[in-house]
Parts: sequence; structure tokens; C-alpha cells
Amino acid sequence: MQAAVVTVGDELLSGDTENTNATWLCRELTERGVSVERVFTIPDDIGDIAQIVNESYAAYDAVLVTGGLGPTHDDVTMEGVAAAFGRDVEKNEEAAAWLTEHGGYAAGDLVDGTTHLPVGSRVLHNEEGVAPGCVVESVYVFPGVPAEMKAMFAEVADEFTGEVQHVELVHAGEPESQLVDRFAELRERFEDVQVGSYPGDHVRVKLSGPDESVVVEAAAWLRERVDPPEETVE
Ligand code: ATP
Ligand code: MG
Repeated sequence: MQAAVVTVGDELLSGDTENTNATWLCRELTERGVSVERVFTIPDDIGDIAQIVNESYAAYDAVLVTGGLGPTHDDVTMEGVAAAFGRDVEKNEEAAAWLTEHGGYAAGDLVDGTTHLPVGSRVLHNEEGVAPGCVVESVYVFPGVPAEMKAMFAEVADEFTGEVQHVELVHAGEPESQLVDRFAELRERFEDVQVGSYPGDHVRVKLSGPDESVVVEAAAWLRERVDPPEETVE
């Protein structure tokens, strides 16, 4: 399964809010074997949301959208997602009923627009907050508040599946540029193993692949051929 993550919010683009939702979702999806192909960060703008959701829906098996739910003027994600499918938003009676039964809201207390979802969508209830999420075809819409987003993702996590990759890390105390020859040989010997090289205070080499024994073997092969860092940080 291939996925795109779309994070919506002017505050993300201005740097006021760190985009922890994107990182969290990428990690969760990767752990389930889903290949995340794109992460988008876009403004609270109906046209931008409609365009990116429409293109991502066409290109990937699943699209995960966070942020911009609820009834305030800058929360336009539901309108944008609806527009991506050429649909309107309408009051979702199931979402409204759930909020009065479980959320402790009298029907008249809910701010107008709180339960407006794209026509024909599946409701995702918000156990941690107010604004419901939804699923339209293969587009999942979650709140921006991290605790709300995580709780809602947990409800549908089983719907995201793929070939789980086994991961091994090798730490190297040599400059990255000196490792090029061993990377080349490693990739030739272990064709099904992906090799990522991440420099920092030392070089972390991430090996991943679907077959655990092959990845373990590749890691052992590389470990024997690199100088370890002075102090290995696991
Ligand atoms: P609500 O469930 O309250 O309606 P919402 O979907 O309207 O939430 P936003 O209004 O977009 O969410 O954002 C609410 C808060 O969540 C913001 O103050 C912001 O700090 C945080 N937030 C939004 N997007 C992200 C993100 N991608 N990563 C981390 N925090 C985020
Ligand atoms: Mg917002």
C-alpha cells in the first residue's frame, strides 16, 4: 500500500507549529508496512486542499489528511476534501447523534458546522475532542490536535497494511564519503535491501527489507567492514 500524508494549516507553514503529526503518521504507516510516498503541508485554503487531495487520491492507495476541522472560519478542510470529489458538505446526523450521546452535548449546543462532513462519507468519532473526522473513498480526514488525531487514527489503523520491513542499524565512525565503495558492494550483494545513510556525529546506516534474515546478514556483512564510531550510540 502506498500513501500520502497531507497536513493542513497556515500555522505549519509559518513555523508557529511544529509538524509533529506528519512525522508521527509517517512512522505509524511505515511500521505497518505502508510506503509513504509524499508528505504535503498546505494552507487553510479550500482550493489548495481540493487540488492536493484530488491528485493524491488518484496517485496513491490511501491519503491521510490532518488539521482544519471544526466550525471556525479557518477550518476549511472538510469543504476542501468534499470539493476534491465534487461533493458538498452536509450535516452528518450520525456524527451529531454520537456527540449528543457520548460527548455530552445538547443538540442545540453544537456550533453550526461542527458536524458538516462531505456527502456520503463514513464518520470517524472524536474520542478526545469535538470535531468528527471522516473517510471519503480512500481519503481519511483527522483533526489537527495531536492527541485527537492519534486516537482517531487508532480506530482505523488496521485499514493501513503492507509488507512490513525489517530494519537493522549499523553505526560507522568513518566519513560518509569514504563508505561509498562498501555501500556499492553491499547493494550489489543484497539487492533486496534498501540502504540509507544518515550522517550526524557519526554515520548511521539503515538497512531495511522484507526478509529479516537477509537484512540481518547484510548488517553483519557491513559491520565487519566499517570502523565503529568511538562511542556507539544505539
Ligand atoms: P479540532 O479538533 O480542535 O477542531 P482542528 O482539526 O481544527 O482541531 P487545527 O485547528 O488545524 O485542528 O489545529 C489545532 C491545533 O493542533 C493547533 O493549535 C496546532 O497547534 C495543532 N496542530 C495542527 N496541525 C498540526 C500538525 N500537523 N502537527 C502538530 N500539531 C498540529
Ligand atoms: Mg488549523
